[in-house]
Amino acid sequence: MSVLNSTAARDIAHQLHPYTNAIRHEAIGPVVIERGEGVYVYDDQGRRYLEGLAGLWSVAVGFGEKRLVEAAKRQLEKLPYYHIFSHKSHMPSIALAEKLAEMTPGDLSHVFFTNSGSEANDTVVKLLWYYNNACGRPKKKKFLAREQAYHGITVASGSLTGLPNNHRDFDLPAIPVRHLTCPHYYRFGQEGETEAQFVDRLIGELEAVIAEEGAETIAAFIGEPLMSAGGVIPPPNQYWERVQAVCRCNDILIVADEVITGFGRLGTMFGSEHYNIQPDVLVLSKQINSSYQPLAAVVISDAIYKAVADNTGKIGTFGHGYTGSGHPVATAVALENIAIIEERHLVENAARMGRVLQSRLAALADHPLVGEVRGAGLIAGVELVADKSTKAKFDEPGRVGAYVFHRAHDHGLVVRAITDTIAFCPPLIITEDQIEELVSAFERTLEDTVRWIASGKPA
Ligand code: PMP
Repeated sequence: MSVLNSTAARDIAHQLHPYTNAIRHEAIGPVVIERGEGVYVYDDQGRRYLEGLAGLWSVAVGFGEKRLVEAAKRQLEKLPYYHIFSHKSHMPSIALAEKLAEMTPGDLSHVFFTNSGSEANDTVVKLLWYYNNACGRPKKKKFLAREQAYHGITVASGSLTGLPNNHRDFDLPAIPVRHLTCPHYYRFGQEGETEAQFVDRLIGELEAVIAEEGAETIAAFIGEPLMSAGGVIPPPNQYWERVQAVCRCNDILIVADEVITGFGRLGTMFGSEHYNIQPDVLVLSKQINSSYQPLAAVVISDAIYKAVADNTGKIGTFGHGYTGSGHPVATAVALENIAIIEERHLVENAARMGRVLQSRLAALADHPLVGEVRGAGLIAGVELVADKSTKAKFDEPGRVGAYVFHRAHDHGLVVRAITDTIAFCPPLIITEDQIEELVSAFERTLEDTVRWIASGKPA
């Protein structure tokens, strides 16, 4: 078979891949994944991989879950598509909105559905602009976010994201946003500073930025309870409590972006419960339906809903919505997925297996390449460094991470390399034996990496 007819050549010829170096892709081509079962996926050569990242932090109930397939099939046969614009509705979106309002914390009461986490965060921006206009506060439009935050890639959500790679050459940020210091003590704590003093400094910075900008110009503080795609960074003790206290004092809303932490990832149903956050707006996606269908949800407080609703009463229809908002198949699959999470006690499993994963990885802390092991529940990051004692990064950031990513593949394990932090976020159904398989494949990968670095060879 000629190379040009191969699947790889066809892929290279016609796809611009998300989050991929296109030139390197032309050289190495894709790994073509064909099917999945439980915590495993299989490529078109029949090779099996333990999916250590649950796809993109998202497949809670595992791959090949027949109940989700059946739920999608039933809905496709009955009503494959309908919208919820202009006073129309359908049962799957009604039942899911009701379920989310019931299970989410505090007085969150109404849901706006989108197709993706990015669209959900774009919706948050527009909705809070609209809300503040409705409340007669047209200046209250700015957002506070953090460096290394990940909130998506559309124009507004990409602006909230605090990663240079998502801004450079895309002309972002394009909305008014201030990025505060990333709450990562290992990296951003100063010489001689305790973790508590680090938090004092971050809170001082937050207060200074509010004073500088004027609280009357700031709509909301947005944050992931535990920062994920920016490097798996759990917040220091008391960080969230203190951020919230400052925001409440200044009439700044709290938006919890739980696109990854929602539905059990941290061993609680929502990350907000884990960190004692009382959000005014909660953003959900991914594990909402194990990403079997594109879906995200913006869950808002009763107060926000009422102000928005009253405004539509005055000025007319709420001018925002997607063709796919509340898609019947995506929402039907979400209902079944949440039922599985509840019936099979997957949140409890995540808490139990999370303890196993965290303690197994913590045991690698003495390894010469390991700078820090961190995480909570079933999400973890292992930051690799050139020098443990000084925390020095590698000369060419990301090169070692990329080697680990590819070498782990050779050992039958899918991980994510975030520069040189290796991320783990397996499906919530993972068992203790599978965690052992995951960690031992990673240990073998680390040993190969030590030898590769010593050899001085290119990747
Ligand atoms: N917010 C968070 C916290 C995320 O992790 C992600 C995606 N990883 C998004 C938003 C964006 O979601 P999507 O890729 O569906 O647009």
